[in-house]
Amino acid sequence: MSGLKIPVSALERGAYEVDASVPEEELRPEGAKQLALGVTRVRGRMTTVPPRYVFLGELTGTYFRECDRCLADTEVVFRYDVVWTFQHGVAPISADPASEQELDETDSGETETMFFEGAEIDLGLPAWEELVLLAPSKTLCQDTCAGLCPQCGANRNESPCDCKTEEDPDEFGNDGLSGLANLFPDLDPKDSKE
Ligand SMILES: [Zn+2]
Ligand SMILES: [Zn+2]
Repeated sequence: MSGLKIPVSALERGAYEVDASVPEEELRPEGAKQLALGVTRVRGRMTTVPPRYVFLGELTGTYFRECDRCLADTEVVFRYDVVWTFQHGVAPISADPASEQELDETDSGETETMFFEGAEIDLGLPAWEELVLLAPSKTLCQDTCAGLCPQCGANRNESPCDCKTEEDPDEFGNDGLSGLANLFPDLDPKDSKE
């Protein structure tokens, strides 16, 4: 039991408070690709808005990522507000956009009604979908991360190296090119024509 399954019978007596902390392996649907996640806390309140049930809450937790520049282990803390709408029964075969708009109990038009069967509502699946959808596409250990040196591989946050790269135009661009031009004047088209 993850604490994310809400018995419909409990909702008949009014609102239902949810506060559950769920590890990734309990949240992950069977067959889904693993997410590098810590324990996710799902907090909020389910209320009955006939014929629907509306969950208003938040997800908090941590993604475990690698910095895109220096590969350092990086924790990305998240907090997502969620509004999930459920309805008992089978989903209509063709979703009618007009009927969706009649749902005026929540001011968030972006939520879709999720249909469920049986005696309980499972918050695990929408929580998982949210976490997959909102997983960061870019991760930096810090905004100013200097990354790895492409030549020697040193982590420039920890040990600046002496490698010259195209990222240092002052050191390489000016001195380097004029030095080459002096050694091989024929290589510079401007000098050779004049
Ligand atoms: Zn980094
Ligand atoms: Zn280097």
